[in-house]
Amino acid sequence: MTIQSGIRFSLTIFVIGVCLALSASARAKTPPPGPITISVDATDAPRRVLHAKLQFPAQPGPLTLYYPKWMPADHSPDGPIWNLAGLHFSSGGKEIPWQQDDADMYAFNLDVPAGANSIEASLDFLLSPPGPTIDFSASGAAKLFILMWNQVALYPKGWPAAELTYNPSLTLPNGWKFNTALPVASQSGNSITFSPVAFDLLIDSPVQAGEFTRVYPLNPAIKPPHELDVLSDDAWALDVPPALLENYSRLVAEADALYRSHHYRDYHFLLTLSDNTMGLGQEHHESSDDRIRQHTLLDPNARLLEAGLFPHEFTHSWNGQFRRPEGLATPDFQQPMKGELLWVYEGLTEFLGELLTARSGLVTPAQAREHFAETAAMLDHRAGRRWRSLQNTANAAQILYFSVSEWSSYRRSVDFYPEAVLIWLDVDATIRKLTNDSRSMDDFCHAFYAKPDGEPVIKTYTFDDVVATLNGIAPYDWRSFLRERLDSTGPHAPIGGITGGGWQLVYNDEPNEFIAAGDAEAGGADFTSSIGLHVKGDGTVIDAIPGMPAFEAGISPYLKIVAVNGRQFSVDELKRAVHDSKSNSAPIKLSALNANTLESHEIQYHDGNRYPHLVRVEGAPDYLDEALKSLTPAGAHQ
Ligand SMILES: [Zn+2]
Repeated sequence: MTIQSGIRFSLTIFVIGVCLALSASARAKTPPPGPITISVDATDAPRRVLHAKLQFPAQPGPLTLYYPKWMPADHSPDGPIWNLAGLHFSSGGKEIPWQQDDADMYAFNLDVPAGANSIEASLDFLLSPPGPTIDFSASGAAKLFILMWNQVALYPKGWPAAELTYNPSLTLPNGWKFNTALPVASQSGNSITFSPVAFDLLIDSPVQAGEFTRVYPLNPAIKPPHELDVLSDDAWALDVPPALLENYSRLVAEADALYRSHHYRDYHFLLTLSDNTMGLGQEHHESSDDRIRQHTLLDPNARLLEAGLFPHEFTHSWNGQFRRPEGLATPDFQQPMKGELLWVYEGLTEFLGELLTARSGLVTPAQAREHFAETAAMLDHRAGRRWRSLQNTANAAQILYFSVSEWSSYRRSVDFYPEAVLIWLDVDATIRKLTNDSRSMDDFCHAFYAKPDGEPVIKTYTFDDVVATLNGIAPYDWRSFLRERLDSTGPHAPIGGITGGGWQLVYNDEPNEFIAAGDAEAGGADFTSSIGLHVKGDGTVIDAIPGMPAFEAGISPYLKIVAVNGRQFSVDELKRAVHDSKSNSAPIKLSALNANTLESHEIQYHDGNRYPHLVRVEGAPDYLDEALKSLTPAGAHQ
């Protein structure tokens, strides 16, 4: 998902399974225990419960087993331990008492009895329905589920995750099929045995399973293989439109041309089309866990809004998985992560994803510009940028991921995704300007994600490494360039990549395509750039931006607007009132419920609807459109 310094230009490559182990191995007094078995019985997944049994080699004496807490793709301590149930430990058929650590809820302490050389753990994991907030327990329903191994796994204290070997197996409901990047050792009926795997790679390898799945190979000319694995609650939803498959195949070719390396044995886009799991895009070395609403591929608005999902998560295989900031490359799942470079891990991924979305035809260049305009306008109206720097949004990611939408302008959110897009766009335009358009961020990618190819590996980096790589592409004071933008508490968004790229951000009453799609999909209305308001379809205020007309009139989040200029509230009524404000000297009059109290508010505003767009600066070099151009001849991938 979807956060610095120190001179360390010579980077070390760690094979996952060995990576990150060196400092920790000195800590381990004894070699890691032999293979741990984990057997997951998912036959009750339709009842929303998973059963798991684990067998640990063990020595008599105290033993601490951890439930994974810090999840790499979440950058947060959000392992869903609250839905763990039915925990028992035993040895030789005899129950072993256990204690949950009173300071660390993710640690279980027990005593292995004399004479025992292994213990067994059994546990259940309770699946949830999707809620309004992030809940990683919402990963299954009647006809499908996605197995995230961390939900059902424990591991012994004392060794890096990469040094622990697991023998995983899975039993599915009768007739269910599955897809995963994990190599399969054997299968008998509905029971699957996977090849032995390092614990960190097991956690990194979800399995999608269900009654209805379909596999689409993507661009077989490119090796290693890539495939789209579709899972849904209903058979009809498995049909992916041919034109979209064509775009996904182009995506594989464009990524191949941009990154020029592969750090996976094969790659699976694990796409779940369901309203019964949490919406999600989660990156892994050899797969991505992409969950979107069931109608998404069929609805133009939903499809446009999700066009960047695959390009973003696929990019993470290089940026985030292969190249990972030091502070996020922890040896196990209990050590806190530091998000200071998430503006690279997530922000650069978002930027490169935007380029690949356009280059693979998932959006047109005009749509890509509309998206940049929406991003720039949203961030230029972020009230919180006066107190919270972009750098702080990255440092505070583990808090901000779980903050609600209300007050997001004043509090800020995980802005290191969209605002870093603007910064990297600025970097790209600046490189092009410095080199007379002979070099670009494409060259940065060639250098930063360079080979070797092969199995999943992690190569860590620091802020200095990013600066050094940029200087290798185009010598410049990149340190100051980046720090100035990251640490700013100025009122305006960094839109130099738009202006330096030959375009200008303007506002008019023509709807922005992405804002209109978002409004249509959510049923609400976004007035960020006019009266500074975002409302749901029932009039409930999601956000009102301090300093802008609606907030200054007394409107704030959680109020429910019930009337507009004396008429019952509707999104259209409010849009009409904002539009008519231009030719109307009277304020916009709103009635709103504040809990059970009726209030009246008058918005002094007369500029009409204002939606952001980019317009060309005639005569200036068009670096922005240059960045959106395909690197592969159309059709060459077939
Ligand atoms: Zn991400």
